[in-house]
Amino acid sequence: MRLAEIIELRPVPAAGLLATLTRRCPLSCAHCSTSSGPRGEDTPADALRRFVGGFTPGDRPEVLMLTGGEPLLRPALVDGLAGLAASAGTRTSVLSGMFFATDGKVPARIMRALRHIDHFSASIDVFHEREVPRAAAFRAVHRIMESGIEVSFHAVGRSADDPYLTDITASIRAEFRDRAAVLVNHVRPAGRAASWATARQVPPEGTGQRPAPCAMAAWPVVAFDGTVTACCNQRVVDARPVPDHLRLGHIAVDDWQAIRRRCQDSPVLRTIRTAGAGSCADCRSLARRPAELDAAERAGSRPAAGAMDTLGARLQRDAGAAALLRRYGSGPYAPLVLLGGPGDEETSP
Ligand code: SF4
Ligand code: SF4
Repeated sequence: MRLAEIIELRPVPAAGLLATLTRRCPLSCAHCSTSSGPRGEDTPADALRRFVGGFTPGDRPEVLMLTGGEPLLRPALVDGLAGLAASAGTRTSVLSGMFFATDGKVPARIMRALRHIDHFSASIDVFHEREVPRAAAFRAVHRIMESGIEVSFHAVGRSADDPYLTDITASIRAEFRDRAAVLVNHVRPAGRAASWATARQVPPEGTGQRPAPCAMAAWPVVAFDGTVTACCNQRVVDARPVPDHLRLGHIAVDDWQAIRRRCQDSPVLRTIRTAGAGSCADCRSLARRPAELDAAERAGSRPAAGAMDTLGARLQRDAGAAALLRRYGSGPYAPLVLLGGPGDEETSP
């Protein structure tokens, strides 16, 4: 599964599920905004297996994204979840910081964990390179690619004109001969360092720009404690309690079907997806402004609201992955998401 296919699905309600497997990570990247470290919490494995085991061929997400922390610290869980997902027809993608690859090798336990995986994405940036040398990360990604898995890189820089981004994207393109897509993002205080397509402030806080529809309110996110949130904004994922309008449930008590229905049918989420709710800070604090929350609820309950939501998602999906990343990633590098298969002719940033 190519990265572009995954990202095209990002604005489609319940087309994907992002699952945090752990907050643990052996690396200590300076920009990590998930507060991951050697002693982070693990998401309950049994509840995760039960939840993913509830996918059915007729009611399942298209894609399951496993993230962390470092999801490959739990290789047996990655293997088990991807196998359960595959039996229902859901494809699985893993995002890793490549902690295992300091010598350029991929240990057998990691290769086993990847046997049901459809896409592998490696995080790379100036901080990661201090921990895992570029050449070693490249060698390991080649090994994974040779096993038949589509691969991509998630590169992070300070800004679009950061020379590091020019260097790393050229290096990846040359090394992988344009067979690996690259998603480029900027370090953001509220972004999720270990997640592609982070929830950028929509619009940036304090800019006075008018609200814009939020495509990030479309995929449920399983947080480290099993809570399921409506978006991947790091403060929504980490802070407790989650505001009611951004909380979809909990994997210990809800199944996929219930979470999927709440995600698709919530009037407030429909309004956030189609009209926006201001910046992420405005959106998170909606409950403290009951009149605005009521207005969002009413707007999303109108008879046409569901059709508008579906149409908006379809238009964004049809516009393609590069168009989405012009809004949510690093604009000049957005075309690099199309690498990795046919259709990469127009990819020069
Ligand atoms: S940015 Fe990713 S690899 Fe680095 S410490 Fe955080 S979770 Fe680990
Ligand atoms: S906090 Fe609201 S505006 Fe921000 S990503 Fe989440 S749903 Fe979208």
